[in-house]
Amino acid sequence: MKVTLMGSAAAEAVPALWCDCDVCRQARRNGGKDIRMRTSYLIDRDTMVDFGPDAFSQTLRYGVDWTQLRRIVFTHAHEDHLNPVEFMWREPSYSRVTSRVKIIGSPRVLARLERETGHTCNELQLDPVPVGPGDRLDDGDLSLLCLKANHEDNSGQALNFVLSRGGKNLLIANDTGWWDEEVWQQIASCRLDAAIIDATMGVATKYLDWRNGHMGARTTTAFRDKLLQLGAITPATPVCANHFSHNGEALHHRLEDFFAPHRIMVGYDGMTLTL
Ligand SMILES: [Zn+2]
Ligand SMILES: [Zn+2]
Ligand SMILES: [Zn+2]
Repeated sequence: MKVTLMGSAAAEAVPALWCDCDVCRQARRNGGKDIRMRTSYLIDRDTMVDFGPDAFSQTLRYGVDWTQLRRIVFTHAHEDHLNPVEFMWREPSYSRVTSRVKIIGSPRVLARLERETGHTCNELQLDPVPVGPGDRLDDGDLSLLCLKANHEDNSGQALNFVLSRGGKNLLIANDTGWWDEEVWQQIASCRLDAAIIDATMGVATKYLDWRNGHMGARTTTAFRDKLLQLGAITPATPVCANHFSHNGEALHHRLEDFFAPHRIMVGYDGMTLTL
């Protein structure tokens, strides 16, 4: 399984489109890894995790052919992860659509997609697959374990995932704070080959220990330590922090200064992990 980080930012992107803070100013000057599009992932060539406002530029950059996409897995319905407008162009008067795409997500994701496109999934040749916390789904050679994220008021509408393919297991845990106890129990039975963990609040001193809804860098590290303690990962398992906000002082070198001593990689746009 090959995973590409197509984006590594939280909702406002980095530099945030309208922001004149020091981080955004420096990011504009530095370019490179300090430029972050909204977080989403490409799994091999047939699966995306989230489909936000940067999806078109991201797929151009990484050479994704949308006609080959088989499924899009949604973590949740927030604007930086779900941009319904691009799905409108699947309607027959706009495009000659020859293959259906599965939309896997919580009921809130599916409802928002239909409400904002003004079409049912079927009219858009999409196959909706509603999932919730604790669900397991087999779809072809890809399996999914859905975990309850501590996000969207811990409502169960936001999900983290263990994606499995070819005997390898990947944890995607962004847009979450510290998990509920039942989720830790679920992950304890998993053997992960890589883990991607939320670090939205970054290294800003006042946010280091943030743990509700999102995580600051010190909580991200504690989250990794808990995965170790439960035996879900080993000290050799690749672990990557991702989903950074400019409000967390998310310049790449500053994040690396914090995370490198903890042996946690810092996500950036275009980073790949091969499991
Ligand atoms: Zn987000
Ligand atoms: Zn800013
Ligand atoms: Zn969110």
